[in-house]
Amino acid sequence: PADDLLERQRRRESSARSYPRRLPIALVAASGSTVRDRQGREYLDCLAGAGALALGHHHPVVVQALRDVLDEGTPLSTLDLPTPVRDRFVEQLFEVLPEPLRDGRILFCGPTGADAVEAAVKLARTATGRSGVLAFGGAYHGMTQGTLALTGRKAVKEPLGTLLPDVHHLPFPTAFRSPFGVSDSDGAAMAGRLVEWALTDDLSGIATPAAVIAEPVQGEGGVQPMPPAFAATVRRATRAANTVLIADEVQTGLGRTGDLWASEAIGLDPDVLVLSKAIGGGLPLAVIVHRGELDGWQPGAHAGTFRGQTLALAAGAATIREVVRAGLAQRAREAGRRLTEGLLAVAADDPRVGHVRGRGLMAGAELVDPGVVDADGVPVPDGWLAARVQRAMLERGVIVEVGGTHDAVVRFLPPLIITDDELDRAVEAFGAALRSVHA
Ligand code: PMP
Repeated sequence: PADDLLERQRRRESSARSYPRRLPIALVAASGSTVRDRQGREYLDCLAGAGALALGHHHPVVVQALRDVLDEGTPLSTLDLPTPVRDRFVEQLFEVLPEPLRDGRILFCGPTGADAVEAAVKLARTATGRSGVLAFGGAYHGMTQGTLALTGRKAVKEPLGTLLPDVHHLPFPTAFRSPFGVSDSDGAAMAGRLVEWALTDDLSGIATPAAVIAEPVQGEGGVQPMPPAFAATVRRATRAANTVLIADEVQTGLGRTGDLWASEAIGLDPDVLVLSKAIGGGLPLAVIVHRGELDGWQPGAHAGTFRGQTLALAAGAATIREVVRAGLAQRAREAGRRLTEGLLAVAADDPRVGHVRGRGLMAGAELVDPGVVDADGVPVPDGWLAARVQRAMLERGVIVEVGGTHDAVVRFLPPLIITDDELDRAVEAFGAALRSVHA
């Protein structure tokens, strides 16, 4: 039976609510990789605050860091005035950043990922004196009007009319359902050529942009890892055009993909790194880190009340320290391998799993209708099936997300501390849920 909190929420809160529609549970407690609803049912949380909870729920080091702030009486809100907590966060983050950014600058943005993407684009425009931005099909950068313009999904933009102008999208080289209808490596080469063409060929008709923005692994776009060959081309082409390369690591950052920074692992080598989610230890925090020479801001050119809340900075510093101390990036790589092997085993027995992919603990299984193929002979995505599998998994005590074209990709984004047993349970629930759903 539905919880009455859901009913009360339905009456009071906007129709824009999203998660409660597909995951109708009201949560009262959580620990590690598990959350508990009001009826006492436990769920394995393979959503983890949309990737924000790298250490899971109520990790002792995070809880202690929060207690310390309260015990020490550090002001909770200081705009951008320094505090010892803020200083520790900055030092902790810079210690682990990709080498080329270690002598760069950090800008604290509003508390959400979208705020930081907005700031990154403003920075690129300020530094280059240009206005254009190149983004990719399937991209997700947020829900503000600026970041929505960058998002590569028509349906969420079309009802809104004109968003941020001067944004162009190019195809992202996906391994399955390639926009070019070709193999992975050919797709990466063709997508790279298009970026070079857009940035350097006068006949492209695209004014040289201020920035190119990309996710090293597209998350909401359906778990699409960027091929390293494509990353290298994007880096080369942006450098040649003096265009700022922005890596949106809001979701991939801090170990999730099996490396501390996915952009570094694939050789993207960005000029600006956009970070949020995990770096706040589950509390709202968002920053950009960029090469020092881009710092052409006038004082006060970017502001906001909540730029680095003390509790989030403390939780974030503790999380960064623990991710490194416990080797959780390496752990995410091994766990991710186990997870994708499990999903592949399910796929081997069921043609409705069209493709399994991911990087570290960002994994996805794209569900298809094997009886219907598109013009390239690839089975069409089945969002109806994914919605039912998501619900059937919830009934089996596992929370997952969906994303990608037609929301047909079942996405696994668990805490990095998830155990092998828990991963196996998630895979089992996926297989059982799939078997329980018939057209
Ligand atoms: N960029 C990426 C890559 C994301 O995954 C998200 C959130 N899913 C955002 C930006 C936006 O972050 P927020 O929801 O905190 O605004």
